[in-house]
Amino acid sequence: MSYVPRIDESSCIAQGDCVELVPDVFQLDDFAKVVGTGPDELILAAARECPVEAISVFDSETGAQLYP
Ligand code: SF4
Repeated sequence: MSYVPRIDESSCIAQGDCVELVPDVFQLDDFAKVVGTGPDELILAAARECPVEAISVFDSETGAQLYP
């Protein structure tokens, strides 16, 4: 199992916490985008730290939503 993040572009306020925390996974344009993969715990940490809960995390195998 690995974690897959998805970003709600309409919620993202582009302040960049997720990019700072996991630059291999998130990059900032007009809003944050998922650009790669990374450690599950860091993906989850980025989702938890997003101030507007724009990041959801899913199980890559089952598709189950793990966060929020
Ligand atoms: S932490 Fe949340 S609000 Fe900030 S850039 Fe990432 S997705 Fe957007």
